[in-house]
Amino acid sequence: MSSVFDDLVGQEHITEILQGATAASREGAQTQEMTHAWLFTGPPGSGRSSAAVAFAQSLICSNGGCGTCSDCNAAKTSGHPDVEIIRTQGLSIKVEEIRELLTRVAWAPSMAGWRVVVMEDADRLTESAANALLKTIEEPGTRTVWLLCTPTLHDVLPTIRSRCRHLQLRTPSTDAVTQILINREEISPNMAQFAAKVSQGHIGRARYLATNEAARSNRKVIMQLPMQLSSLASALQTAQTLVDIATEEAKFVSESRDEIEIEKLQEAYGKGATGRGMATGGSKAVKELEKEQKSRTTRMVRDSVDGALLDLATFYRDVMMVQSGSTELTINTDMREEIKSYASSHPEHSTILKINAIMDARTSLARNAAPLVTCEALMCKLSK
Ligand SMILES: [Zn+2]
Repeated sequence: MSSVFDDLVGQEHITEILQGATAASREGAQTQEMTHAWLFTGPPGSGRSSAAVAFAQSLICSNGGCGTCSDCNAAKTSGHPDVEIIRTQGLSIKVEEIRELLTRVAWAPSMAGWRVVVMEDADRLTESAANALLKTIEEPGTRTVWLLCTPTLHDVLPTIRSRCRHLQLRTPSTDAVTQILINREEISPNMAQFAAKVSQGHIGRARYLATNEAARSNRKVIMQLPMQLSSLASALQTAQTLVDIATEEAKFVSESRDEIEIEKLQEAYGKGATGRGMATGGSKAVKELEKEQKSRTTRMVRDSVDGALLDLATFYRDVMMVQSGSTELTINTDMREEIKSYASSHPEHSTILKINAIMDARTSLARNAAPLVTCEALMCKLSK
């Protein structure tokens, strides 16, 4: 029989626990296996929210999460009265939103034995929102199950963390990602294998690369940068190229989304409905949203630069492999010739220094250093 857990790539250790919890939940009582607060953590792309949604389905489905019945389908698309999936559009989840949510879920489940709330970005809870949520999670005997998702354990308040059962997702293997791309996205085996390999277990990134030609050609440009580093001038030029590409990618994704959000907000304030302008407070709300969008785009550019640096790191990692004689372990199989020639024309001891320099640059970026300056400093080190 099919199961919603079949879709979780490389997460067998978690599937077992969740199936155990589902079985225990049938008995009704809160047991060791079944508890009402869970925290799903995992690196980007590991599928932490997919795991949480699958668990929600299994809890409300009479077949333990068959993935095909109407309950399973409704739960996945937020159409089930007992399942609520909170996908945050904004940058933070505010206390008012949590209060409103708590009133909604205070009722007993209407159909299933449980009411389930999946919160995809629990790391965006403001402190007061987290505290409001904490009170509910602490309540014993409730029929509401909370499934919170964050990148790491440290992204939620310790008080919340300590009340949740923690599940850590793994980075799926290249083979597992390849299979998913072939089976579910109908991508050709060669392309699937390439995308899975260079994405290093990040399913979303692999899917994006496999289905998006512009993304593949951007990656190609980035991966050629090491070969162009010959002088200070070229170092500054490559830094600019890298930041430009990353900015363009981030803007491409955010611009269309920003527009839709603004339109929706304007509609909510009555624009277009009466032929007149927006209701009171409308323009102020739009300005606030624009401010939030701007800081989100800044963050996306940063993430995009970071992704490009990770790609670059795989180049030097491959060079190191070739220099130590392990050619068969290359990640960037499309660049075998470039990697071989770089490896033979550059000193072996400098490769690890270059990888370290990239990792240091990533740390600086995470601490809010300006992307261009960070990349310029990095490229100067890489050109030595
Ligand atoms: Zn089902």
